[in-house]
Amino acid sequence: MIAPWLRSTWAELWARRQADRMPHALLLAGPQGLGKRAFASALMHALLCQQPGAEGFACGHCRACQLLAAQTHADGMRITFGLRDDGKPRTEIIVEQIRALCESITRTAGRGGWRVVLIDPADALNRNAANALLKTLEEPEANVLIVLLADQPGRLPATIISRCQRIAINLPSRALALDWLQQQGIDASVAAESLALADGNPGEALGLAAPAARERVDEVVADIEAIAAGHETYAIASRWADEHADGRLRTLARLLTAALRPVQPNAAPAILRLRQVLAEADFVRLNAAWEQCNFVRNQLDSPLRKDLQILEVLQRLRSSLAR
Ligand SMILES: [Zn+2]
Repeated sequence: MIAPWLRSTWAELWARRQADRMPHALLLAGPQGLGKRAFASALMHALLCQQPGAEGFACGHCRACQLLAAQTHADGMRITFGLRDDGKPRTEIIVEQIRALCESITRTAGRGGWRVVLIDPADALNRNAANALLKTLEEPEANVLIVLLADQPGRLPATIISRCQRIAINLPSRALALDWLQQQGIDASVAAESLALADGNPGEALGLAAPAARERVDEVVADIEAIAAGHETYAIASRWADEHADGRLRTLARLLTAALRPVQPNAAPAILRLRQVLAEADFVRLNAAWEQCNFVRNQLDSPLRKDLQILEVLQRLRSSLAR
């Protein structure tokens, strides 16, 4: 099922398919949480299904659809992070994966029907992998569709981007996002608060609407209030380092962003509380705390001590609040 805000994009693409003008490569670009993956999967299923419906969506029960559901359809390929020798997932897509893909495309040529490849996340292709993919994009084969998914398309080489039809996936209107959240079973007032906190991103808002995430927001606000009231910062940093460090830092960054924006409709009570704490904050220092917060989030897996890194963030936050 694709998200309602992607329906017009779907219709345009399907019209091209009907007119036999399907591009060879698509780049689905946009932030996480807007349904890129579901869209790409639906497209793969639609092209491989033996009897797609009127709007192009896969039937869900033909032989091809069954193979796709079992992820065993030979013409539906997915490239994502492979495993390293120690069994942990890699953090980039490597050239061997792209070479194997190209061989597979060549091997299956002439069999008729579509072959669809999803590369996800394409912004994690390393340089050699990107070069290998470029060759395939430069010499497209008939009935092969390569779909690249990227949260941060700016990290892709321009040569790759220029050979793809780019589909920018943008934030939907507030009304559409709220509707969708309620269809996912989220209460209207929680949906509105979560959407405000997620900066209008419905997928992120869905995650923030979960009870555990809502509790975390309240906890982080309480910790900021404690810091403003002069409580010891290290105790808080140490607690954050022990559990959900990334989730808490992420929540902090999000809260600071939301609290510094002009007043939004349906702001969560947590945001209103935070606004009071931040009312007289030094903006330049607060911004430095926010930047440090995002920096540390990317460093959490490094050998540096988590508690000390988090302490640095919280101390910057405190210095922004000092009168
Ligand atoms: Zn089918």
